[in-house]
Amino acid sequence: MKPRVETLYVHVPFCTHLCPYCDFPKERLGGNRMRDFLRGLRAEWAWARQEFEVIPRRILFGGGTPTALSPSLLQELLEIAPWGEADEWTVEANPDGFGSSKASMLAEAGVTRLSLGAQAFLPKDLAWLGRRHDRATIVSACKASRKAGIRDLNLDLIYGLPDQGPAEWQATLEEACALEPDHLSAYVITPEAGTELTAMIQRGEWHPDSENEAMLFLLTQRFLEAHGFTAYEISNFARPGRECRHHKSVWSGEDYLGLGPGAVSTIAGRRWRNVRDTSQYARSAETGPHPYHEDEEVCGDVERRTERILLGLRTNAGLEEEALSGHEECLSELVQKGWGRRLDGRFLLTARGRLRADAVAVMLI
Ligand code: SF4
Repeated sequence: MKPRVETLYVHVPFCTHLCPYCDFPKERLGGNRMRDFLRGLRAEWAWARQEFEVIPRRILFGGGTPTALSPSLLQELLEIAPWGEADEWTVEANPDGFGSSKASMLAEAGVTRLSLGAQAFLPKDLAWLGRRHDRATIVSACKASRKAGIRDLNLDLIYGLPDQGPAEWQATLEEACALEPDHLSAYVITPEAGTELTAMIQRGEWHPDSENEAMLFLLTQRFLEAHGFTAYEISNFARPGRECRHHKSVWSGEDYLGLGPGAVSTIAGRRWRNVRDTSQYARSAETGPHPYHEDEEVCGDVERRTERILLGLRTNAGLEEEALSGHEECLSELVQKGWGRRLDGRFLLTARGRLRADAVAVMLI
């Protein structure tokens, strides 16, 4: 019997410009690379359907910026497979270049959720992040999405920026809430290896302030909970019933299929990453048997358990205490410190505990 997979990720590796902090597989839009990508994606989709029983229920199109494609290429992308049959289909977009015509194309194809990379509202924050949009563009992209009838709206935000204290960050959260999103993702700025941001830090031009970041993290939890959102994961906040099903399925350890350059899949105890280069991806997907896989590995019980603890501690579902047997003393200590709590046979981290989720995971693995 073929392994069944219901959670899909499609990586669209193109952006109109490249942000200095980003380490996702992406390249500037241009040339024939988009056509290469679509050819490769078609071939990979055909391969995946032969290998697995693929029932698309929870789909995320990320990148890159899927909506940066021209209208005709975007239409091709939306029609490659029966994505529209999914219960949840999220497409990531940037505010610049996203208006009523692209919103309508997505809605007509069956997209149910738009995830908009707002990141910030203040001009100085957007400039530092290298973003080209402004507050008015964010507002008009949100309106276009709502008007087209896309059911859910998520806004991505980034905190921990230069001179961003609690007052500035709260102003950003207020601006975001005023747009009435169903979901917010708030990520701390993270220097990833090989990015321009990391080079800036190495040159001594800026450095992250971990104390300020911790303060802003706790402020985010308090502020958004007071505004009707549940912190269902360290960086993700949803109104009741509007959690991202794709994310939840990945965090709970379900198998997922990643299509596109650099996409990761985990199916039936195996994990692999597609080659990142778009042309190589397209060539290898077409000549088969599948796109060239890098870092292919077997995920055994130990790896799965480790991952379950790492991911589970980040969520408000926490972990079954059974999964943490042998760590009784450590759990009691975490509860005493106010970092964790026990509820109906599960162990969860408090907001203060989530600040140290990775360190706690190391203690429990
Ligand atoms: S728009 Fe998004 S994916 Fe593209 S470079 Fe910026 S952060 Fe990365």
